Amino acid sequence: MPESAYDCIVIGSGPGGYVAAIRAAQLGMRTAVVEKDVVGGRCLNYACIPAKAVLRTADILSEIDDAAEFGIDVAGRTVDFAKVNDRRKKVIKTLTGGVSGLFRGNKIDFIEGLGAVTGNGTVRVGSAKDGTEYTASKGIILATGSVKKPIPGTQFGGRVIGTEEAWAFESLPRRLAVVGAGASGAEIASAYARLGVEVLLFEALDRVLPTEDADVSKLAERGLKKQGMQVFTRTFVENVRDGKDSVTFTYGDQQGEVDYLVIAAGRGADVEGLGLDEAGVKVDDRGLLVVDGAMRTSARGIWAIGDIVPGPALAHKASDEGIIAAEDIAGNETHPLSYVDIPRATFCTPNVASFGLTEAQAKEAGHDVVVGRVPYGAVGAGTVYGDRTGLIKIVGDRRYGELLGGHVIGAKATELIQELVNARALEGGYPEVARIVHGHPTLSEGVMEAARAADGWLIHG
Ligand SMILES: Cc1cc2nc3c(=O)[nH]c(=O)nc-3n(C[C@H](O)[C@H](O)[C@H](O)COP(=O)(O)OP(=O)(O)OC[C@H]3O[C@@H](n4cnc5c(N)ncnc54)[C@H](O)[C@@H]3O)c2cc1C
Repeated sequence: MPESAYDCIVIGSGPGGYVAAIRAAQLGMRTAVVEKDVVGGRCLNYACIPAKAVLRTADILSEIDDAAEFGIDVAGRTVDFAKVNDRRKKVIKTLTGGVSGLFRGNKIDFIEGLGAVTGNGTVRVGSAKDGTEYTASKGIILATGSVKKPIPGTQFGGRVIGTEEAWAFESLPRRLAVVGAGASGAEIASAYARLGVEVLLFEALDRVLPTEDADVSKLAERGLKKQGMQVFTRTFVENVRDGKDSVTFTYGDQQGEVDYLVIAAGRGADVEGLGLDEAGVKVDDRGLLVVDGAMRTSARGIWAIGDIVPGPALAHKASDEGIIAAEDIAGNETHPLSYVDIPRATFCTPNVASFGLTEAQAKEAGHDVVVGRVPYGAVGAGTVYGDRTGLIKIVGDRRYGELLGGHVIGAKATELIQELVNARALEGGYPEVARIVHGHPTLSEGVMEAARAADGWLIHG
């Protein structure tokens, strides 16, 4: 085989692309990954991972602030943001180094440069004039992710920044405005408010985390406000003017001035220079690539995964699609992916996680809806560990005991949700979750109690 001949070439090394490449290599394919920036994609370098590293510092600070209740006096505390940044960079380096190690271990070639698909089924790396062509005899997987999008009337630049830049501040700003109170916006607001930044959080819709269940949004807004930020719902940010030392804007009849304005209100597929037209790959009216259940695009020999295809823009969704694409290229049977059942997590405080339908969606879909709602304080662990305000809500269909959705807000919500996701994947309903023995004292007993509440026999409540 010539050096430039592969069975499978993946363009993009984020959680979609690198996982797809490893699975392809495991299935015996000679595999290469093309990356125009750095290994690990946006998730590891600029998005999920740096976000969680900074949030972890804010969480520790919150624990220190609450320590007196647990009998610990902490005399004076300061944030050394340079050290926070050092740790963020170290975490990124460790994880991206891990991906490089996995590439080496699986004999996957890492090719640096801008990748594009060509009309004749090859991948060109570099410019159209003097790029190098590589062949992929079995399949090409596009995993190029997404890029930030401005809100109408704005453009990025100067002090008007996206979420990735917000997680890479070299020093702490004094004042921050965050536009969009979805998962990313809520995380940024929650981290920086607790680190002492004056934060204004704006949402055009009527509640924060607007895609979550309404009960969860209500508690989330209360929790975010407790961190000292101002939250404005049903509010549009307009007339944004980027200045030398600050950025000004209007909201309603008020004027705002902050050090940075972060736009966290949507992303678009990164397909620039990818050669989609030349290769005959169809996109939909939102600019996302059209794929079938096995992640095949409209062009023979080309698959697409992750943020460039429809579905929730989440790292674990991208990875699972990568596995499906690689297995399909290898000729294996693939598993169907239920998009609504993919867990969704927001790592702000309070922690928020969900899967499936909200109560309102379940009603709208005509289900015979039953709801089990249990505060963390209903089980011993909530009181022992110091979070009685969290909530676990199960949405079910009474007819068959079906688990339609799970919604958790409070400590460790992002871990607790997985039990309900697993139960549903294994075709268990809420009556089954209600009868599984749970360890004591754990917050997961609350999940069991919420299932019992849905089944009509809540013990602790
Ligand atoms: C601030 C922020 C926080 C987030 N936090 C979370 C979280 O906590 N959990 C979660 O599940 N999701 C989170 N997400 C979403 C998550 O980052 C994405 O869903 C995920 O990165 C998508 O993975 P991907 O493989 O499709 O693309 P990406 O991670 O975007 O990787 C794509 C890669 O392709 C490369 N590329 C693009 N075009 C080309 C080309 N033509 N040639 C070569 N290389 C190319 C890019 O340089 C990039 O490295 C977050 C997103 C943001 C913005």
